Amino acid sequence: MPETPEQSAAGRFDTVLIANRGEIAVRIQRACRELGLKTVAICSEADREVPYGSTADSFLCIGPSTAAKSYLNQDAILLAARLAGAGAIHPGYGFLSENATFADAVEKAGLVFIGPTVSSIAIMGDKISAKRAMMAAGVPCVPGPDTALPDDPATIERIALEIGYPVIIKAAGGGGGRGMRVVPKADLLHEAITLTREEARKAFGSRSLYMEKFLEHPRHIEIQVICDDHGNAVWLGHRDCSMQRRHQKVVEEAPAAGIAPDIIQPVGLACVQACLQIGYRGVGTFEFLYEDGAFYFIEMNTRLQVEHPVTELTSGVDIVQAQIRAAQGHVLDLTQGDVTCEGHSFECRINAEDPETFLPSAGVVTHLALPAGPGIRVDTHIHAGYKVSPYYDSLIAKLIVHAPTRAEAMARMREALAGTEVEGISTNIPFLRALFEDGAFAQGETDIHYLEQWLKLRRAA
Ligand code: ADP
Repeated sequence: MPETPEQSAAGRFDTVLIANRGEIAVRIQRACRELGLKTVAICSEADREVPYGSTADSFLCIGPSTAAKSYLNQDAILLAARLAGAGAIHPGYGFLSENATFADAVEKAGLVFIGPTVSSIAIMGDKISAKRAMMAAGVPCVPGPDTALPDDPATIERIALEIGYPVIIKAAGGGGGRGMRVVPKADLLHEAITLTREEARKAFGSRSLYMEKFLEHPRHIEIQVICDDHGNAVWLGHRDCSMQRRHQKVVEEAPAAGIAPDIIQPVGLACVQACLQIGYRGVGTFEFLYEDGAFYFIEMNTRLQVEHPVTELTSGVDIVQAQIRAAQGHVLDLTQGDVTCEGHSFECRINAEDPETFLPSAGVVTHLALPAGPGIRVDTHIHAGYKVSPYYDSLIAKLIVHAPTRAEAMARMREALAGTEVEGISTNIPFLRALFEDGAFAQGETDIHYLEQWLKLRRAA
């Protein structure tokens, strides 16, 4: 008798190396244990004392503190996987999570990469090919060509005129809010092209650029998907991540406020369709800008996202477990009809940074108090005595709440923030507390520029 997918999945792997650090390393380790899998934690020299080292089945130091020599060192990670007997690698987010070369090396080493196929990562990693694939699948995109900008200045000028100013120039290989430049009018076009090309070449190793309409007051709304290897895909509702500073998300919520089901439904279905069309596997996020009742695709993240907990709390689906099960080859155990999103959830990113200047703050956490209670979740790796190192991202914890309504979830977050105390280093908690007192934010539906404007007004006051 031929094997069922469940039978063939059973032996795919029993030990997962978590190629990441911080709160997400803790989150993935927990999901693995709940699935009965063994875990391998890795660290750099700066992270030798991390608490998730002692709770993993194996713990290996793979290199010096600088990320380039440890968490980004593909050979060292593969060697650690071999030494510890791991059958799969979970890349988390950031670091190597969207690196097609790494995913390929993992598979070539005979291990499972817990993520989509190498070709999906490569298509979506280039924003131009991603846009082309999405247009082909019927996903609505920002007006502008799905091809790279040529070098010829006259053609570039013509494209900008066709789109209509303001336009935005973006690096095809860009990420993390970098490699983008807004051009309000024609006489600033060529300088913007030159600067962005140079930045793109230096930062992303490719001078490929594209141009699209700059939307002036959009919201950032995204759709979470989960797919298996057997032609099944579902979307788990939507999130609003418009609260951004320097294109970096600060607060996220699910669902996005004020979006009628009949507006979002076709977009969710188009995302599912796109996944089936490109043979997508595992979890992913379609990011959209939303303006005047219309959605415009900007990019797809082919990995677990920082803000996945708000969708976990509203949908009741453990996204990390679902991702690992998909990589094991299991059939997705839910259909679109099973997905119901309930209540409202917020996530605050607690960063080790000055609440006024936003400069990173390293040092020892001398005192820590974390909130608890119904509808409160804290994802973190820190504890009193923990040393926040200057080498990595400043995210030290995520505070997540869930309540029946948006207003109740806001009240719960205010309470949770009031009960969070971190001493010894600076954090953005005072800034988050003030933001959750803001009237316009409480009303909902603020756009992606709101937070920057709010900060400017606060500074001027
Ligand atoms: P990255 O990969 O660097 O995160 P994205 O393409 O996701 O880049 O864009 C990041 C942010 O930049 C968006 O959330 C939005 O705030 C802004 N942005 C990107 N494209 C546009 C656009 N066409 N119009 C207006 N704002 C944009």
